[in-house]
Amino acid sequence: MPELPEVETTRRGIEPFLTGHTIQRVHVRNHRLRWPVSLPEHLSGSPVLSVSRRAKYLLIETQAGALVVHLGMSGSLRVVSPDEKPRPHDHVDIELQNGPWLRYNDPRRFGSFHFAEHPSAEHWLLKNLGVEPLDNEFSGDYLFETSRNRRVAVKNFIMDGKVVVGVGNIYAAESLFRAGIRPGIAAHRVSRLAYQLLAEAIRQILANAINVGGTTLRDFVGSDGQPGYFKQSLNVYGRQDEACRVCNTTLKLQILGQRSTVYCPSCQTFSGWKKPVC
Ligand SMILES: [Zn+2]
Repeated sequence: MPELPEVETTRRGIEPFLTGHTIQRVHVRNHRLRWPVSLPEHLSGSPVLSVSRRAKYLLIETQAGALVVHLGMSGSLRVVSPDEKPRPHDHVDIELQNGPWLRYNDPRRFGSFHFAEHPSAEHWLLKNLGVEPLDNEFSGDYLFETSRNRRVAVKNFIMDGKVVVGVGNIYAAESLFRAGIRPGIAAHRVSRLAYQLLAEAIRQILANAINVGGTTLRDFVGSDGQPGYFKQSLNVYGRQDEACRVCNTTLKLQILGQRSTVYCPSCQTFSGWKKPVC
């Protein structure tokens, strides 16, 4: 599933082809995505002002309003020449005046296209989202203050999109490992210091994934442009029963909030109130 870094990489990949260009027409080949696709006529002829991202939504801001695109489970966007024939699962084309087209492919059709009036931040999909993990607003202090009456496991707390957006299962597990925090500890039992380490770990891991993604930007152009998921070195995610790369202890699997999580019982003992064991 595309996570925040993949969406940010997509944004960077498509932005140069859209900003400053005018949408000639949006061709919807299949309206049945996660929600039925219904876009207003007046998008046609509207210049694109910017391409931004909020959580895992891409916002193509035009003079008429914004196209709000979510890649769902299997969606991807690629830049194609106007005469390239659509392939299976190519559901939407954004035709630009005097330029290449942007083509949306989505085999599982969990993605979505919405139209948002100005200001797009008020759109119902966007207005209740939590803070962006790479913005200054996001910090250990913010996590600490927000978690004081939260009894859910800290892993579920940082995956709650009303708290902070874009921390999916992989990034939550890896950040907790880096910060040395046991994923199942109740959120309100984690100290300010531990949240400071955790916020820093989340930032670094997401930023690193975006940098790695930068090397795949060329995949957005050309006929075989299917951006793949980033190859990252993972310390715990998907490694249950394997040896911890730091201390060689066998990694354990735990189910939290119906999601499986893997952690190191030796490295991840820290809640910040007493010294870590190792
Ligand atoms: Zn370990």
